[in-house]
Amino acid sequence: MQKGIRRTLVSIAALLGLTALPLLSQPAQAQEGPKLYVFTSGSMGGFPKAALQIGGTGNIDYMPVSFYIIKHPKGVVMFDCGNNDKTITDPEGWWGPLAKGFGLKMTKDDAIPVQLAKIGLKPEDVKYLVVGHMHLDHAGNVGQFPKSTLVVQDVEMKAAWWPDVGFSVYYIPGDFADTKKMDVMRLDGDFDLFNDGSIRLFRAPGHTPGSQFMVVKLPKTGSVILTSDVVYMQESLEKNLIPPIPGTQSPGDMYKSYARIRHIRDVEKAQLFIAHDAEIFKATKKAPEFYD
Ligand SMILES: [Zn+2]
Repeated sequence: MQKGIRRTLVSIAALLGLTALPLLSQPAQAQEGPKLYVFTSGSMGGFPKAALQIGGTGNIDYMPVSFYIIKHPKGVVMFDCGNNDKTITDPEGWWGPLAKGFGLKMTKDDAIPVQLAKIGLKPEDVKYLVVGHMHLDHAGNVGQFPKSTLVVQDVEMKAAWWPDVGFSVYYIPGDFADTKKMDVMRLDGDFDLFNDGSIRLFRAPGHTPGSQFMVVKLPKTGSVILTSDVVYMQESLEKNLIPPIPGTQSPGDMYKSYARIRHIRDVEKAQLFIAHDAEIFKATKKAPEFYD
């Protein structure tokens, strides 16, 4: 709006006795860009590192279970959704022996509605729930988002519902039972969610048949790679070390996916937010702080 016209309108408003016309007295605000928020769904710890890395020695004392929210002008996007909230009160009932085996720790503050409230959101505000894969610590709370569109690789849906022999242990059917009632976008490869380069998904099998990772492009921060379990730890990526079965479904694909992540990291000078890497998690800002 031209200055003169605005001044005239403000004068008319004053004559009419309207004291506050903020929209007329200030230039319009630019549309807000995307913001990325980091959370953890409780923690795990006190289990052998060899469970995450072939040949690993010693114990993992603390392991975060990261998930993420992107407040985007075209809608709220969530990437992974943590351990099922039922494990807060009944860890062994929901996870069986894995709860003790992985030292699962969940409190009532880890519940999805409590966590989302930290940034002023409710589950129904999430437009797209993207899962890196359907394992119990990444797709545990899919059932809390019946109004969202689930974005998942088609082969991952099949792997979760009808796992290969030996690979059922990390899939809990109750976690994703509601997917049959939801809107599901079943992908067959890479996908640019809003077709503007701000949120891209890359199919990266190996850990599971339909694993995918997300690259978020932020105006100030630049590119951030959200790995889900395409890689468990920074060290594993640098040294090309893969997990044992059932953490690796296809070794060859796993190595190719590692290479894909390293390539995108290098060409985009991207930061890696590796879901289970304790050092990376400690160094990141946690919600309600954000990256923009
Ligand atoms: Zn996994």
